[in-house]
Amino acid sequence: MFKFKSDRFILRKFYDSLSDTNCILCTLKIYSMAKSKLESTLRIFITIILFAMTTRGYSQESPAYDKISTSAGNVEMHFIGHGSLMFKINGFVIHIDPVRSSGSYNFLPKADIILVTHEHYDHLDVNLIKDLKKEETLVFCNEKSTAKIPWALAMVPGDRQEINNIVIEAVPAYNIVNERAPGQPFHPKGDGIGYILTIGGVRFYIAGDTENTPEMKALKNIDVAFLPMNLPYTMTPEMVADAVKAFKPGILYPYHYGDTNTDKIVQLLKDTGITVRIRNLK
Ligand code: ZN
Ligand code: ZN
Repeated sequence: MFKFKSDRFILRKFYDSLSDTNCILCTLKIYSMAKSKLESTLRIFITIILFAMTTRGYSQESPAYDKISTSAGNVEMHFIGHGSLMFKINGFVIHIDPVRSSGSYNFLPKADIILVTHEHYDHLDVNLIKDLKKEETLVFCNEKSTAKIPWALAMVPGDRQEINNIVIEAVPAYNIVNERAPGQPFHPKGDGIGYILTIGGVRFYIAGDTENTPEMKALKNIDVAFLPMNLPYTMTPEMVADAVKAFKPGILYPYHYGDTNTDKIVQLLKDTGITVRIRNLK
């Protein structure tokens, strides 16, 4: 507790005593009391400010995560930002589109598997991949990314891998309507991929940069879906809602959503039985 009242009282005494020239000793004593009170109050304030700064810094450095229970144990899904995610299951770490500009990697572990959906700068960060990679880390990517990470293993839609009882399937990711210029979609069909991970019987779909394609709408048994929701590159909330109503995941995480108003997707999917979770994935 701060004793502001008593501090003010001591200060007033000090100023009063300045006018009393007969009491020099008294003035010095009150001055030293006031000085030490002020110093201790200042020290407490500085301590509080430093503590607040440290706490805030830590919470910014440590991304939030959700847990999904599976027959193989809990899967932690860490939301780093934009299109960057990290999954952790019993200490086994999967980084998905790790990119330094998406958020902080300071407290995150190195990868056992790295998945890259496509070669755009907000999905493929070669330097960060080198930092997260251990000698035995497996890196999977779309074919075009191998120009920048030639040691990675390319996957095309329909490919399937199984590592440590985790099944990784590649699915298509592309634009139908959104184009850079006439005839040039931001994500041409055949370039990028999304991934479906099956862990302990639970299927996680990480879509990459795509629209509500017929292939997406035909997906089956998806429990958790991460779908991109920003214009002009990916989908509007209406397009996300159209896809989700077709393949009906249990939980939808809009991600890669930039400045899109996330209230819209919540509203579009209310009463559908699909849980929409908004996380820090701008
Ligand atoms: Zn892209
Ligand atoms: Zn992107």
